[in-house]
Amino acid sequence: VAPVASLVHAVRRAAADTPERTALAYFDGRITYRALDELSDSVAGHLAARGLERGDRVAILLQNSPHFVLALLGAWKAGAIVVPVNPMYKSGEVTHVLKDGEVAALVCSDRAWDSYLRETAAGTPVRIVLTACELDLQTRNDARVLNFERLPQAADADDLIAVARRGHKAPADRAAVPSDIALISYTSGTSGAPKGATNTHGNIMYNAERQRTGLALPGTPVYFAMAPLFHITGMVAQLAGCLNSAGTLVLAYRFEAGVVLDAFAEHRPVYTVGPSTAFMALAAHPDVTRDHFSSFRMISSGGAPLPPALVEKFRAGFGPYIHNGYGLTECTAPCASVPPGLEAPVDPVSGTLAVGAPGPDTVVRIVDDQGEEVPFGEQGEILVRGPQVVPGYWRLPEATAETFPEGELRTGDIGFMDPQGWLYVVDRKKDMINASGFKVWPREVEDVLYTHPAVREAAVVGVPDGYRGETVKAYISLRPGADEDPAAFAAYCKERLAAYKYPRQVEILPDLPKTASGKILRRELRSRSGETQ
Ligand code: ATP
Repeated sequence: VAPVASLVHAVRRAAADTPERTALAYFDGRITYRALDELSDSVAGHLAARGLERGDRVAILLQNSPHFVLALLGAWKAGAIVVPVNPMYKSGEVTHVLKDGEVAALVCSDRAWDSYLRETAAGTPVRIVLTACELDLQTRNDARVLNFERLPQAADADDLIAVARRGHKAPADRAAVPSDIALISYTSGTSGAPKGATNTHGNIMYNAERQRTGLALPGTPVYFAMAPLFHITGMVAQLAGCLNSAGTLVLAYRFEAGVVLDAFAEHRPVYTVGPSTAFMALAAHPDVTRDHFSSFRMISSGGAPLPPALVEKFRAGFGPYIHNGYGLTECTAPCASVPPGLEAPVDPVSGTLAVGAPGPDTVVRIVDDQGEEVPFGEQGEILVRGPQVVPGYWRLPEATAETFPEGELRTGDIGFMDPQGWLYVVDRKKDMINASGFKVWPREVEDVLYTHPAVREAAVVGVPDGYRGETVKAYISLRPGADEDPAAFAAYCKERLAAYKYPRQVEILPDLPKTASGKILRRELRSRSGETQ
């Protein structure tokens, strides 16, 4: 199968070759490749008829549903740039994105439109609104899902599904070439104000092709969409990877461990990718059995640190080995991954699990503060150059020049390489804790905490300390039934880590704060500890 210029072309190819194959499965609803192609053509025709021009921006604020995919393909077929927006964003965050992206069209749920987005969008450049029926989106085991029963339609919006069914033709002159911007992906903001990374169609298809050829899944691969589609991992490693392989993508609105396990049992997926916290939640679910995972050929964890202890617990409890993958929004999801059939080594000194190896077209360099490359095994900042690296940030020439000097991505992550070509991520540069002048990387302490049987989730941050400048604090959520005393975790780490590294403070919380893509928010924990000082 030859690579194609965009996901639109991949869907057209599948619609021609295997029109009756299921492209999307959503609870009891199914949508074929032929239907997906025709319905998204109609969305494109509508957008063009409403005056949307090539390069205009279309924001999508939806959970994982067929409606998201229809809107995405429809917008791309109309030549637009898509701005995926986290549906959990508060009004102020959405306003920032709509104004910064100068967004012309918005696709959202009818309820969100009625309850806050109408007000939010007023005073922004949005002039076209398509709503999707939230009732349909959320109803489980409901054959009506694709019959699209809906609430009374708002007068100031068009219904996405009605538009999709009108049979409009897509404009013929808007096909994308690989260098066209496909997405403005606002980074999830675990470390500051969101900036829009401009992922091109070429960036997306490079990673989708690498996945297709790397996984080489036979037949019609069934993928389960665990990560949200509005996040780059969900968009690329699941949606683009699956549709580019003419596979079936199973969608289940948003991550909820019980619903996900039911979907595994019903659809028997062969592949999924999610943040490590999702695997922790699945492993801790009371109904989980080995059989839930028996259909999988491969499972990947991406976008967040993967503790070696979780990989082992998961393999022992459920069978599959979790493959690590390292990526950023700025490199369109993965830029290093563990090749199928191999297992990532654990660095004997730090106990860190390798994140994978860069692909053949990707060059990873590790440099010191002066920008000089360091020898194997030595830590420095990770720089990436390759076909998945975005050309820059949307309308931020200074930030672009700073983060992408000569087109090479400065990741802001500290890592090292071994002589065999494996890459290890130590931590984010800005999360380093300086305890009495000693460097402590939160990850190392978290990895130790995850070996404790009572720990469900752990996050380590630096908190101000009058004596040491900063000191190490651990936040922990416990496994069901565990009731350990916080001091026990400090003592556990003290036995296993140098004296300056073990957490002097430990606080137990019912749950740790996370981004919508499932990453633990150390930033929020840091400000929380600031408040409680
Ligand atoms: P912001 O850029 O606003 O801080 P964010 O960094 O969470 O948000 P993403 O692009 O989603 O935005 O995340 C990329 C970061 O996630 C990487 O820079 C790295 O720190 C972390 N990461 C991704 N994959 C891994 C991995 N396998 N192991 C360790 N860390 C990882």
